[in-house]
Amino acid sequence: MTEKCPCGSGESYELCCGKYHTGKSVPETAEQLMRSRYSAYVMKLADYIVDTTHPKKRQPMLRDELLSNFENVQWIRLEIVRTSLGKAHDKTGKVEFKAFYIAGGTDQVLHELSRFKKHSGRWFYFDGVFEPE
Ligand SMILES: [Zn+2]
Repeated sequence: MTEKCPCGSGESYELCCGKYHTGKSVPETAEQLMRSRYSAYVMKLADYIVDTTHPKKRQPMLRDELLSNFENVQWIRLEIVRTSLGKAHDKTGKVEFKAFYIAGGTDQVLHELSRFKKHSGRWFYFDGVFEPE
């Protein structure tokens, strides 16, 4: 597979988010996890999104909600606005991003500040707040 990664890194999918989706590798930074979760939305990989959600935040309905949302949203591109902490040696991190998508026939943007936490040595998505446009 030589297709470009959906996260927009410019790398091939296989060398970028693909290695996290297949479990060959684990993201070292919160940004890598953020990118791989975005790519998982694009590729409709509900299990990956559930598995990388912090255990405390994993709602029983999450998987079903993801599966129904996949049908209504077409993801266009991801833009990382800024990151704080979230490096390999950190325990928490924040990533502000904009994710552009089409839903209900109109262009929309999700602008979120996401919080990530380490748990058992791995990064997990904790929660996010919406940023006003
Ligand atoms: Zn990627």
